[in-house]
Amino acid sequence: MKLYNSLSRKKESLKPLHKSWVGLYTCGPTVYNYAHIGNLRTYIFEDVLEKTLQWNGYNVKRVMNITDVGHLTGDADTGNDKVEERARTEKKTPAQIAAFYTRAFLDDVEKLNIKRPPILAPATKHIKEMQALIKELFKRGYAYETPQAVYFDVTKFKNYGKLSGQSLKAKITAARKEVVEDPLKRNAADFALWFKLAGHFKNHLQSWSSPWGKGFPGWHIECSAISRELLGQPFDIHTGGVDHIGTHHENEIAQSQAAYNKPLAKIWMHGEFLVINKKRMGKSEGNLITLADLEKKGYNPIAYRYLVLNTHYRKKVDFFWGSLEAAEEALKKIYRSITDFALRWQKNKKVEKFKLSKRAEHYRRDFTLALNGDLNTPKALAVLHAVIDAKDVSLPEKMLLVTEFDKVLGLDIGKYRVAPKIPPEVRKLVEARELFRRNKQFARADALRKKITSVGYEVEDTPLGPFIRRRL
Ligand SMILES: [Zn+2]
Repeated sequence: MKLYNSLSRKKESLKPLHKSWVGLYTCGPTVYNYAHIGNLRTYIFEDVLEKTLQWNGYNVKRVMNITDVGHLTGDADTGNDKVEERARTEKKTPAQIAAFYTRAFLDDVEKLNIKRPPILAPATKHIKEMQALIKELFKRGYAYETPQAVYFDVTKFKNYGKLSGQSLKAKITAARKEVVEDPLKRNAADFALWFKLAGHFKNHLQSWSSPWGKGFPGWHIECSAISRELLGQPFDIHTGGVDHIGTHHENEIAQSQAAYNKPLAKIWMHGEFLVINKKRMGKSEGNLITLADLEKKGYNPIAYRYLVLNTHYRKKVDFFWGSLEAAEEALKKIYRSITDFALRWQKNKKVEKFKLSKRAEHYRRDFTLALNGDLNTPKALAVLHAVIDAKDVSLPEKMLLVTEFDKVLGLDIGKYRVAPKIPPEVRKLVEARELFRRNKQFARADALRKKITSVGYEVEDTPLGPFIRRRL
């Protein structure tokens, strides 16, 4: 399997560090608001990565952190703690805010068929590990203290900037343009490891005792500490969005390597942005769209997943409603075909029990090659369509292949795989409605459609005839 490593800027063969498992760390959400569909794109990419590893027979140990403290509104250690700011606005505690938006995030994850990471690690539950890392940095001369905070001195770390390719000089010049709230910070690009209950954060709601006084951790330290704690150091793959490259991941690499004198992770992978009219989706741009917004407009969240898979994860997705519409149409075509196959092939249900023909094996190989070539999901989708349309593979083979492919693609194909057991009374309603439709008695046909809906089914008119399914 080949994966593009942002650190070496090359596609590299995966060579797992352990015999029996692959360690995968994915930066998780800051739980102060609903995720927007741009955020969710990254989690879909990571889900495909995890499932592709499993497709190749690897056991994956996956960890995702949940940021519930320490992520500030400003990049240069400025502004407020996002979770705390929200708590004050909503007159709740930070813990309540974090619990609520974690739940909302996991709901989105489920709707998009993203496998919920088995290990979710909230930052507030790993303060001890973060403090241990900071102590190590002091011992080795990378950390220093001011009355307001503890910082990492970026000039002490030789390879700072390796991931982003930005020179330290350029980084410091850029950082100088931002408001620096602590006059005793040595270099503008130094980043906070620990904030004290002093100055701007005198009344911070969440705090813990530490050798440097009561306070709370900075954002970057949590990922270094949590990943090391749960996956060991180094581990195999670390992922996030491209927006993590310049600061968050650069800082993770610096502090982990400085503290323990070994790399944090072998392969670093980053998902590109989703853009609207060439602009990145973000709060400050005022163009946020959530999954709930898509659902309100009547779209199936899986159509969004399809849309995302149709672009390689290292290319931008230019989102517009028409493309979502097209994705939903493509998805419906798949569902229709699968239902049709299932109906035509009810007699021989033991789909798993036969050997694939050479031709069918060929499709499976193409699918694997697409995924193993740095997760080429557009190509994998093309193979899915090719199998559905293929004239040279049998129906049972098609069913087997598409069911297998869907373990990675996650398009809900399984729901249509078994011919739906439509109760006779529903079937009768559908037949009666067909008759009304053919006789152009549309009002009566519509009344029957409503009745069908009210008993939990829906009917769609296709060139193949009415397509009945349980309402999803
Ligand atoms: Zn992170």
